[in-house]
Amino acid sequence: MKQYEPELGQSVYGNPYKQYDLSDSDPLYSALEAIRRFIEAVYWDDELDPFANSGDELRGDTFHIQAYSWALCECDFLNDEPEECTCGYEEQKYNFRWDGTDEIEPIEVSWYKYFPRGNSVNRETTVEETQLMLREIISYLMEKN
Ligand SMILES: [Zn+2]
Repeated sequence: MKQYEPELGQSVYGNPYKQYDLSDSDPLYSALEAIRRFIEAVYWDDELDPFANSGDELRGDTFHIQAYSWALCECDFLNDEPEECTCGYEEQKYNFRWDGTDEIEPIEVSWYKYFPRGNSVNRETTVEETQLMLREIISYLMEKN
């Protein structure tokens, strides 16, 4: 799997990214698109889309999707004043996370500003685990609505 290389703005100003490039030929990419479209249809009246630059968030029992965060540290600790962050800022560790199972490691995806710009993923995934993830998330959404 290709190492992910961020664009300049992302590498300087962006939230943390993952190690591997998530290309549009990866089954995980298709699964995320399917989940996005499913959410769009199910939450049509709420216009919920955590994949967009929307500030939206959706949390299920085994997954969490959050729009790109523009939060910044406001206490200037990078200039050593104070010595550590005191404003409560936390960098965004992912935009999409599926917790996996006892045998399957979590899958985490980060993007830059909006999906699918600058998509990166924490590890290589198989078609089988991607399909399991998709089934879990879709059935959760079906039950909730
Ligand atoms: Zn701070």
